[in-house]
Amino acid sequence: MRRILLLLLVGLLLCGCAPMAEESDHRKQDFLAAESRSPEELALLAKKTVLLDAGHGFEDPGCEYPDNGIIERELNLLLTQKIASALRAHGVTVILTHNGESFPGREDLDSLASEKGYDLTAYLHALISAYSGREGDALENTVTAFGQGVNGDGVYDTFERAYYANLQGGDLFVSVHINASGTNAYAVGSDLFVCGDTPHGEASSALMASMKASLCYAFPARRVGAREDGWDNAFVVTKYTDMPAILVEAGFASNDEDAKLLTDPAWQDAFAVAVAEGIEMYLLGY
Ligand SMILES: [Zn+2]
Repeated sequence: MRRILLLLLVGLLLCGCAPMAEESDHRKQDFLAAESRSPEELALLAKKTVLLDAGHGFEDPGCEYPDNGIIERELNLLLTQKIASALRAHGVTVILTHNGESFPGREDLDSLASEKGYDLTAYLHALISAYSGREGDALENTVTAFGQGVNGDGVYDTFERAYYANLQGGDLFVSVHINASGTNAYAVGSDLFVCGDTPHGEASSALMASMKASLCYAFPARRVGAREDGWDNAFVVTKYTDMPAILVEAGFASNDEDAKLLTDPAWQDAFAVAVAEGIEMYLLGY
């Protein structure tokens, strides 16, 4: 019981939109309250490239709650396009991992890699041996598992998305998803996930802090969870991407109230702007 109480307390500390106290948090609040970007900020943003990934897609629908009007594949793409528009409006270059119509296959990726002189195997070896604690056969198996991205069956594998992102290069990576709980219809709110065990772990956590501050500012009553995972528990797209990376779960398709928000165009716009503001705040160093 004490353990459960402790977990609840930790959960509240991590998840609540608590009032901010520190100096950097004041700077974040000032940034979020500003009505427009300054010319200096716009000049900086014009030099930045953001990779956006609409989770799932093609033959992989993600979570499906047709009674709530949600097919994750479609909603992820819609939200991603809205986030892209908000960023482009401030001059940020945006690259999508896919547009819902086609995606790069493994052969496309490998030929792009040889064009660019990108050595995937060398990159994976260095990353996995430095951050996963694996060596010998375990290390080789993890490298091989990455290479076994599903090919030709209509699925755009998460390994392939990370590979594509690394080939494109960029200042940060955001994967957009919709959450669902099969067991708890009351689970609500947005959730943010990063991997601490990469060369970009600290930067990813700073990106997460900016994103959380922005979502809490836009939706003060909403639960916003933020979690830094270690190597073994982290999502593929947050640990194999060679740049600060975050996975954003916008809300729960399995919850009726959250589903109403997720399918409301005005809420979608506000959510997309809040995500874009979190990204810009991080890029500008607030
Ligand atoms: Zn998903």
